[in-house]
Amino acid sequence: MAFEGLSEKLSNAFKKLKNKGKLSENDVKEAMREVRLALLEADVNYKVAKELTAKITERAVGQDVMESLTPGQMVVKIVNEELTELMGGDNARIEFASKPPTVIMLCGLQGSGKTTHAAKLALMLKNQNHRPLLVACDIYRPAAIDQLKVVGAKAGVPVFEKGTQNPVKTAKEAIRNAKDYGNDVVILDTAGRLHIDEELMDELKNVKAEVEPNEILLVIDSMTGQDAVNVAKSFNEKLEISGVILTKLDGDTRGGAALSVKAVTGKPIKFAGTGEKLEDIEVFHPDRMASRILGMGDVLTLIEDAQNKIDQDKAEEMAKKMMSNKFDFNDLNDQFAQIKKMGPLKGILAKIPGIANQLDNINIDDRQIDWTQAIILSMTPEERSNPSLLNPSRKRRIAAGSGRSVEEVNRLIKQLEQMQKMMKQLKNKTKGTKGGKKRK
Ligand code: GDP
Repeated sequence: MAFEGLSEKLSNAFKKLKNKGKLSENDVKEAMREVRLALLEADVNYKVAKELTAKITERAVGQDVMESLTPGQMVVKIVNEELTELMGGDNARIEFASKPPTVIMLCGLQGSGKTTHAAKLALMLKNQNHRPLLVACDIYRPAAIDQLKVVGAKAGVPVFEKGTQNPVKTAKEAIRNAKDYGNDVVILDTAGRLHIDEELMDELKNVKAEVEPNEILLVIDSMTGQDAVNVAKSFNEKLEISGVILTKLDGDTRGGAALSVKAVTGKPIKFAGTGEKLEDIEVFHPDRMASRILGMGDVLTLIEDAQNKIDQDKAEEMAKKMMSNKFDFNDLNDQFAQIKKMGPLKGILAKIPGIANQLDNINIDDRQIDWTQAIILSMTPEERSNPSLLNPSRKRRIAAGSGRSVEEVNRLIKQLEQMQKMMKQLKNKTKGTKGGKKRK
């Protein structure tokens, strides 16, 4: 999970402040020293860390903070605001062309996640009622075209390719094709190299000059920390990018790139990649990211995630079932499948305020869901819909089939019973309210 170490260190630095009734200038300076160290350990650019803490100190030693009733919290508020500002303030959007198609050129080094994110972006836009077209302009890497075709098919988005034809020509033909077929967004997957070299830059400059893209988004891998920031700096100097897609945030425990890119390049992070699946892309919101870094959760993203990734019809059906006392193991299994779509449990919990900074003390094992599902799937369809059939010999069979113990099977049955009981109570309660309304 991104920012784990940083969140913990920052919360330790603030804990000391929060316990104090009144703050001295020294208290603030001491805390900021810790903040700066934490930022450096998170691989934040040295200059960025220094400037940020100087700015926070300047604001925090002001009268308002020192004399406020909760000086510690005021400092956290300032840090939150400054982190937000550091990452770009408002969230940046895609600049759509006034006359379609909007051309988005993706560039980046090999392995940064460029092809994957071309498809993620296409899927996201498709879900927003756009009609994107993916274009294979990486003609050097073996299998790059095939890879784009595979992810394009997964996203249900057409892929335009002309084999190893000159990428500038391919891009131009693709745009013409998009106009003919009503595709309002064209996403160019350009060539990547292992390192930045003149040849690559020349080719990208050519594509840029010929097709005049509305957006040039640079894809960088957050796990490479300051290297990613340096790559962004070079690309921006040579190509003048319009924004960044920061990938693999799910595997980045430090967060240095996320915090430094905007300050170093002047270009905003527009999207973040948070996993290998095509749905794992988020609009990058600096304010929400700052809250997450400070362990304050991110409920808005959690809600959006739930809306995007959970099958709404199924959720409604499930709610109805819950209220009709018909909730059985089939439904529980469906519910687990929906939860799994939202990614690792730790990621979900990290977005809940109050829980985010306690995650280290909670033992979370995503395999638990798999084990529970294994038990359910080892039941016959009749047993799943009628758990009262589960006698000791059936339980032993299920335990053996799922590779779990009979105790675990028993525990699961008990949990379902408890859930059914709770739903019954809930149903009675809502009935009561409805009745009350009628009487009025
Ligand atoms: P390209 O060479 O830049 O086109 O990179 P690819 O799109 O082929 O991605 C390289 C690898 O990174 C693939 O194995 C992807 O599945 C993986 N990847 C891409 N984006 C993410 C992400 O946001 N999170 C994780 N965990 N893996 C990613």
